[in-house]
Amino acid sequence: MAGPSIVWFRDDLRLADNPALRAAIDRGEPVIALYVLDEEGPGVRPIGGAARWWLHHSLASLGERLEERGATLVLRRGPAERVVREMVTDAAAGAVFWNRRYGGPEREIDAGLKAALRDDGVEVASFAGSLLFEPWTVKTGSGTHFSVFTPFWRACRSLPSPRPPLPEPRRIEGVGRGPASDALDDWGLLPRHPDWAAGLRETWEPGEPEARRRLRAFLSDDLASYDRARDEPAAGATSLLSPRLRWGEVSPHTVWYETVEAGHGGRFLSELGWREFAWHTLYHFPELATKNLRPEFDAFPWPRLKPSRLAAWQQGRTGVALVDAGMKELWRTGYMHNRVRMVTASFLVKNLLIDWRHGEEWFWDTLVDADGANNPFNWQWVAGSGADAAPYFRIFNPELQAKKFDPDGHYVREWAPEHLSDEPPEPIVELGETRAAALDAYEQVKRAARS
Ligand code: FAD
Repeated sequence: MAGPSIVWFRDDLRLADNPALRAAIDRGEPVIALYVLDEEGPGVRPIGGAARWWLHHSLASLGERLEERGATLVLRRGPAERVVREMVTDAAAGAVFWNRRYGGPEREIDAGLKAALRDDGVEVASFAGSLLFEPWTVKTGSGTHFSVFTPFWRACRSLPSPRPPLPEPRRIEGVGRGPASDALDDWGLLPRHPDWAAGLRETWEPGEPEARRRLRAFLSDDLASYDRARDEPAAGATSLLSPRLRWGEVSPHTVWYETVEAGHGGRFLSELGWREFAWHTLYHFPELATKNLRPEFDAFPWPRLKPSRLAAWQQGRTGVALVDAGMKELWRTGYMHNRVRMVTASFLVKNLLIDWRHGEEWFWDTLVDADGANNPFNWQWVAGSGADAAPYFRIFNPELQAKKFDPDGHYVREWAPEHLSDEPPEPIVELGETRAAALDAYEQVKRAARS
């Protein structure tokens, strides 16, 4: 069927290495770029506040870049299944292309849409753009999926290498007067009353050009010291690519190839491997954000939630220096260093005895890189209920962690200087006692596992 090609952008807000966009250009018909804000689709989890901020700016950047090359970004809001079909009709489109998503509800929407459009005689194709290895291609010897990272990553590495990234298109033929678009500002993605995003504006510049610059700066300045310094929150030694990968402003293929070209980076590449592992786990276990991956953890006797304790954690008022520093960094910048994410998460689950799902939700709302796989996967990893998880009984001591990874107190001084004053805040719980209580509670999980 002739007629324009629609590229449905989702978690791939980029022009370079975008297989769906490439297919649309190669089809030879004019291209319509579409983004759908779907907060109503069945089972779709609405994104959090910090993610909405990022999305706004990333879409603005993508729109400009498409415009410069001759095409227009059309914004529509509503359940994707309905909106995409309406667009096909409005634009008399002959084809729809997209890069795959891997969450359960998203896959169902995409499969339903694919079938419906094909019934209507529209060409539809989906591509691999967001993961290095498709989840159904990585299997154990007996054909099941992996639950332990090391053999998972070994299996990935024994597959053919990820495909090289596709070049960025210089020109994209648009449709002239295209279908009507919503105005981005009308979507209300930015916080207004109150405007809490000042720290995000100071910290980040969303969009593909900055994502590529960040990758290059990391590879030239920091990759060589990554293995040594990656665990120190004040060292600034990590890539800060997580929100860029989350929104697909840079593809994992581009990161992979440029890292390999830079010469070293096995450890850094294996962090991309953890990202793959989280997404593959979500693919096989779509309820990752709500259900314990290891069912014996359903027996964990969470005490009744004390909202004041949860609030103290959220606001960085626990009286524990590294925890408070991390939570304040998160609130201000929408980001937290990985080591500190582990410490703050462990403190919530194992010292405050608060169910990991409450922490996951807070991170979901406040992280600019929050995504449907990495966030719940890592929370379950810390809680002990997840894939290849840290054993529950290994409880981080936040004071020792601070001594080891922030020995000069640079990180705490930056985010929670009150802890270095003459009268530092008192911890809201006693670390030793709460640790013992957590281990007692864990006995029930062990009993459930045995029975
Ligand atoms: P780098 O060290 O430069 O790593 C490069 C890339 O590898 C990252 O951008 C990321 O895509 C990937 N990566 C690194 N560590 C992990 C990991 N442990 N699991 C999966 N992928 C990883 N990461 C997210 O992208 N989104 C989340 O919502 C998220 N939530 C988390 C929640 C908790 C409780 C914890 C402990 C970790 C979470 N992480 C999450 C993983 C990790 O903290 C971030 O990916 C990392 O801090 C991002 O910083 P960076 O890009 O500088 O990382």
